Amino acid sequence: MKSLSIQDLTNAGLKATAFTGGYVNKARTKSPTGIVFHTPGSTWAKGVWDKLPHKTPDQYDLAAGQAFDARNYQPNYLIGVTGLVMQLATDDLRTQHAGKLGADSPAGDVYATDAWASWASPSSGGGWRQHGRDPKAVYDWWFAAFPGHKTPVTVFPWKNMPNDALGIDLLPVVDGSGGPQQTQAQFDAAVKLVSMLAKLHGFPCNKITVTTHSMCSPVERGTVVSSGKIIGTPWDLSPKQWRHDEMVAQAAARLANA
Ligand SMILES: [Zn+2]
Repeated sequence: MKSLSIQDLTNAGLKATAFTGGYVNKARTKSPTGIVFHTPGSTWAKGVWDKLPHKTPDQYDLAAGQAFDARNYQPNYLIGVTGLVMQLATDDLRTQHAGKLGADSPAGDVYATDAWASWASPSSGGGWRQHGRDPKAVYDWWFAAFPGHKTPVTVFPWKNMPNDALGIDLLPVVDGSGGPQQTQAQFDAAVKLVSMLAKLHGFPCNKITVTTHSMCSPVERGTVVSSGKIIGTPWDLSPKQWRHDEMVAQAAARLANA
């Protein structure tokens, strides 16, 4: 099975390095059919930042890459705030960046139908629970993104196994400003990396094959608790922080000219 190399990435004008000595991932049995984008979260990222002896963006990126590579839950790529592309596992390895849909649902395979939409697993923790609200109000953002679909299982080529896709994480900015948590350098690097991965592995570049964890796992990554009420909102990644659709459109345009 093919994989981009660090040389491929630097030849394309990207800053790139590899951290592949950490957790040992299993080989894929079939080529990746798409990409799932994530954020490792600001709490984890701030932990990396706070431990840095020299608090510079370059040091932050490298320390995050090294720390992430040691975890068993890791993506294939981490893009740092400077736009540095860090390969944590080659493309032929199936990393555990997303998990099986509904694996910890007490109601079983809720994603088989639209039953998933009456459940929530808020970012603050506490696990799966029924939110008791109108499913179409909590997950309006998901149903609007995929008209005619009732479940992610019929939308995505990996059905209920998002780990079959490649994982790309975007390291968040931790300046405490409340401003965008991703940088233009990350956006530009993502456009190039996505177009290169789509070309190498032969999958199309669109909002279905290149998506976010929130879109492919809405229960697990799409609710928060606000003033005691469960609110539906995608947060891995958040469209308020990351211009995903615009990135995909630019990557598709680049792929068409590649
Ligand atoms: Zn995620």
